[in-house]
Amino acid sequence: MNFIDTPTQKLFNANVFTPAVMKRRLPKRFYKSVMKTIQAGKKLDPGVADVVATAMKDWAIEKGATHYSHVFYPLTGATAEKHDSFLTPDGDGGAIAEFSGSQLIQGEPDGSSFPTGGIRATFEARGYTIWDVTSPAYIFENPNGATLCIPTAFVSWTGEALDKKTPVLRSMQALNKQAQRILNLFGHTDGALVSSTAGPEQEYFLIDKNFYFARPDLVTAGRTLFGAPSTKGQEFDDHYFGAITERVQAFMFESEREMFKLGIPVKTRHNEVAPGQYEIAPIFESANVATDHQQLVMTILKSVAAKYGMVCLTHEKPFAGINGSGKHVNWSLGSSSQGNLLDPGATPHDNAQFLVFCGAVIRAVHKHQGILRAVVASAGNDHRLGANEAPPAIISIFLGEQLTDVFDQIKKGGAKRSIPRGTLSVGVDVLPPLPKDAGDRNRTSPFAFTGNRFEFRAVGSDQSIAGPLVAMNTIVAESLDYCATRLEELTKGNPAKLNAALQELLSEIIKEHGAIIFNGDNYTEEWHKEAAKRGLLNLRTTPDALPALQTTAAKQLFRKYKVLSTRELESRYETYLEQYILTAAVETNLTVEIARTMIFPAAVRYQNELASACANLKAVGYEFDTDTLDKITALVKQLQDSVGALETAAAKPHADNALTNAKHVAAEILPAMLAVREVADQLEALVADDLWPLPSYQEMLFIR
Ligand code: ADP
Ligand code: MG
Repeated sequence: MNFIDTPTQKLFNANVFTPAVMKRRLPKRFYKSVMKTIQAGKKLDPGVADVVATAMKDWAIEKGATHYSHVFYPLTGATAEKHDSFLTPDGDGGAIAEFSGSQLIQGEPDGSSFPTGGIRATFEARGYTIWDVTSPAYIFENPNGATLCIPTAFVSWTGEALDKKTPVLRSMQALNKQAQRILNLFGHTDGALVSSTAGPEQEYFLIDKNFYFARPDLVTAGRTLFGAPSTKGQEFDDHYFGAITERVQAFMFESEREMFKLGIPVKTRHNEVAPGQYEIAPIFESANVATDHQQLVMTILKSVAAKYGMVCLTHEKPFAGINGSGKHVNWSLGSSSQGNLLDPGATPHDNAQFLVFCGAVIRAVHKHQGILRAVVASAGNDHRLGANEAPPAIISIFLGEQLTDVFDQIKKGGAKRSIPRGTLSVGVDVLPPLPKDAGDRNRTSPFAFTGNRFEFRAVGSDQSIAGPLVAMNTIVAESLDYCATRLEELTKGNPAKLNAALQELLSEIIKEHGAIIFNGDNYTEEWHKEAAKRGLLNLRTTPDALPALQTTAAKQLFRKYKVLSTRELESRYETYLEQYILTAAVETNLTVEIARTMIFPAAVRYQNELASACANLKAVGYEFDTDTLDKITALVKQLQDSVGALETAAAKPHADNALTNAKHVAAEILPAMLAVREVADQLEALVADDLWPLPSYQEMLFIR
């Protein structure tokens, strides 16, 4: 690693088939055609494929690639890849490197074992990967070779989306279409593509590999199913933004170098709140590219950590009792000619265009809160949402003082002023005065306006950001559609009537949907009561939340904007329910196994030691205080009973209906698992350390 010889500017995009590379390598006509698709969202001309494929192959081989891979994103949330070599025998005993346009455009991995939620039976296994020209191809390096990776959409042979990318692209298209109508009303008719943008902040844990491999729960479930709290947790806030240790920083330098090479614009890194927890965030990009890059970020963090003897955990709640990890998805929309459409400027009250876009988001989030909650629902995230570290399961919007005030004025008849930003002075002459931000932050809000974008903070750290982006793009597209239609009705084509129409529309929106705005502390009990009074949803668990994808309103919404057909939506609902149930099944088996084969034997050994000590001491006439022995004996019995109870809960016959089974998991299996853990954790605090078979929280969290 040497940033003197190769400064980061040189590394950036070094392994990406960028527009600049295409410009150098493609005949002008083809380059222009491809760029029209990438920049303006125009239809891809299939005629360019052969030329692009050849240029791509030559470039990749110069970079050492031997194989190419269509990378795709199945509903598991993971990244999938199948590699093919360029090599083709030429019939004369030699071989040539081949890569045709049709191989670039289309692949056919079997992939029949991915969850499809019933869209595809294994006997009709055909599934196609289709080149997504808007997300650049790249070279993924391995110490022993390199692979040309081509981001693709993955669809069934009926054309239905089997993946996470296809709906992202469709939702971006829908958003652009509706945003254009609003821009037209404001006289901006250049048609410059409006893209949704995303900047995802990734939280993760790092622990030493040796501890990881001694914990079957971490290896198999990604989280600890047992573990007494360590004597010190996060209460001192001494890890948060603390100095980054040498090993961790070395890991960060290397992982970021790999990300730079792939054109991922990572920007910030810091220690997070919990011991052993960190965050990495890139600069925002177009939602589609940001989603692909986010998947790569997770892959790279994990692979580079291994080189430093560590394991990167992206589970939402690897350790009980300290903070879990989220993925804050910063979201906005903008175009090359209009810039960021959620930028309020200094005086939002007279920035009518901003107010329409902002109002559309408010309406969308209120109207479709159930969908937003559903797309962040997972077994892992259930441990986090609602605890006092992450936003509650209630979706609300933090708008901040200035914008709340502007919308209040609108409600009362018209906005006349914006609370000025002012300057911040610290009272020390040598420190410069600062322009003050228009609003403070609210770290407890699930959906916060943060100056020029919204930050969806309820997303889980292990999740693909595709689902949340699809939801945001689609609900806002629907809302913009509503606003455009209403404004068109009210103005009847007369631009002079626009101002009055805007006041009417915005005051309607804020009166009908203002209940979603909450600037206070989302962690408090009072908010839960207040939210219930306002009629906001409070969907605590995954089986509570997922049915929001099955409502008629949700089906109509996704169908109308051509983002997901009813079958596609149903397949997602089924798949996510199934994943929830499967996760619980794995965790149940692990809990039983670890309790029986690791914890029980350790406890009995210690019990035996104490019992023999007792007998021996008595034999020589000493007293023995059996307090600990009594406790252990009682706990050993409780451990066996609770494991038995868990097995009984898990063995309950399964219903035909996945939702019923998922509800059974939430209501009975998870509490039964927790009961086993409670007993085991009490034992951990009593049993001799040298007999305890699992690395402790203290070791995992503090040795680095
Ligand atoms: P904080 O921790 O203060 O929320 P970070 O710097 O960690 O801030 O992350 C903020 C994220 O928001 C970055 O990824 C940034 O690029 C992103 N962001 C900024 N502007 C936009 C925008 N217009 N659209 C989407 N994301 C944005
Ligand atoms: Mg941050």
